[in-house]
Amino acid sequence: MSLVVVGSLAFDNIETPFGRADDVLGGAASYFSLAASVLTSVQLVAVVGADMPEEYLDLLRQRGVDLSGLQRIPDGKTFRWAGRYEYDMNVAHTLDTQLNVFADFKPNLPESYRQAEYVYLANILPSLQLGVIEQISRPRFVGLDSMNFWIGNPETRADMAPVIERVDAVFMNDAEIRQYTGSYNLFEAARQLLTQGPRVVLMKKGEHGAVAVSNEGIFVVAAYPLETVKDPTGAGDSFAGGFMGRLAEAGDTSWEGIKRAMVFGSVVASFAVEDFGVAGLLRMRREQIEERFETLRQYTAFEALAESPVS
Ligand code: AMP
Repeated sequence: MSLVVVGSLAFDNIETPFGRADDVLGGAASYFSLAASVLTSVQLVAVVGADMPEEYLDLLRQRGVDLSGLQRIPDGKTFRWAGRYEYDMNVAHTLDTQLNVFADFKPNLPESYRQAEYVYLANILPSLQLGVIEQISRPRFVGLDSMNFWIGNPETRADMAPVIERVDAVFMNDAEIRQYTGSYNLFEAARQLLTQGPRVVLMKKGEHGAVAVSNEGIFVVAAYPLETVKDPTGAGDSFAGGFMGRLAEAGDTSWEGIKRAMVFGSVVASFAVEDFGVAGLLRMRREQIEERFETLRQYTAFEALAESPVS
């Protein structure tokens, strides 16, 4: 099953307590595509400038990512982002965002993308997310990501509501969901979002995992316990890549399928944060996903404990 993604392709400058990386390949769509393409075929919609080296795009091509929906603007500059993480790496600071070629981008999907069943609207201008979803004839499952940069600006925030109405899953972290809904309690906030259209709200909690809230139930997944974490950039997009990639691979969008896909998301994100930029994802292999899935199951399972009385 193929999976269409729209989002940023970027040059990132990243600073964490464990080092820094400059002008590396980043962007929500890069992380997402590298994460999902181990599980299913990915078709990417984005724009880059003349400055994007072919070697960076080759990293995506080598994973079989279809770049026929990628536009290159000959006299344009690629999106840029700079960020810094505190010692508590759940706390991120954006130092700089330069939209560059994304400011005037009009997505026009190749014919081969328009029948896609699975769609992920990664972090980018909400109006571009809407432009993409409108061109896909009958998507079966659409996921949506956003961030404070768009929620905090009244103009782009207003563009989010029509997108939220049309998606099946919304991915947000604690701060984003509170900022968007104005509710402090995360479960109340998630329920509020559910009334606006989506089937499930996926709350990302960084090194503490993720929680799904839907009308079918609640599901909590732990983060995979790692002894080396260098750079949390792209963890959310990689979580979404593992999640959407698994949904597309299995073709199972039931609540059970969603729960299993969350475990895939958590495991896939663990590869992303072990190294700077996309280096960890580039090393990830399908068999390792299976291995970590099983380990995480053992670390978190407590069905057996429930067989005996709690007291
Ligand atoms: P994450 O850590 O999962 O939130 O994703 C980080 C990636 O998102 C980086 O590689 C950035 O290039 C990209 N990014 C950061 N801010 C934005 C933004 N406002 N719009 C689109 N992409 C962004």
